[in-house]
Amino acid sequence: MNRRYSGIGMTSQRTRGRLIERLREQGIQDEVVLAAMNAVPRHIFVDEALASRAYDDVSLPLGFGQTISQPYTVARMIEILRDGRPLKRVLEIGTGCGYQAAVLAQVAEEVYSVERVQPLYERAAEYLKELQAHNVTLRYADGNMGLPEVAPFDGIIMAAAATHVPPTLLKQLAVGGRMVLPLGAQEQYLCLIERDAQGYRETRLETVKFVPLLMGKA
Ligand code: SAH
Repeated sequence: MNRRYSGIGMTSQRTRGRLIERLREQGIQDEVVLAAMNAVPRHIFVDEALASRAYDDVSLPLGFGQTISQPYTVARMIEILRDGRPLKRVLEIGTGCGYQAAVLAQVAEEVYSVERVQPLYERAAEYLKELQAHNVTLRYADGNMGLPEVAPFDGIIMAAAATHVPPTLLKQLAVGGRMVLPLGAQEQYLCLIERDAQGYRETRLETVKFVPLLMGKA
């Protein structure tokens, strides 16, 4: 394991352990999610200048006006997505630096993640290769379209806020599947969508703050 990977001082396993304790205190209960968060070194996804803050529970700038999500939010969304069950095929919209995709890779058999900003997509691909996250497939594309050639997904997670649920993504959700997304513009909240044989059920959860879902590739 190289130095960048294992980390020193503020980026060490012990620092990550403290983050896990904080997530527990904040109410994350799913042990599978906590173990996944513990396994993924967040500092490799942020600029070296910010690495010492990688385990603070805050969002950090990624460049291109985007941010790496707050650890609590990543843990919470994956906890909702899992609902205590193993996940087979998951789609993430908004790869960003790839951190959440790396955490998802620990809890799902196959992860597909779509990013519309090419340099972010390329950098995430490098980071995930370095982490040997072989079950993650990245695509440079507009996430509004989903990935029809791979669908259906038993989990869909969006890392950017939509003003309405993209209908194309609803169609790509498997029966029995769950989708978690931030909804709204100024005021945003987490929305859970569950699909069963009868249709879709929507549940409004806590308020959140995400960058907006944009249209097309950049
Ligand atoms: N998942 C990241 C957070 C990324 S921030 C993490 O682990 O920290 C949200 C990302 O969504 C940004 O990188 C942004 O470029 C991307 N995004 C916004 N609209 C999109 C779209 N239509 N398709 C794909 N990606 C999109």
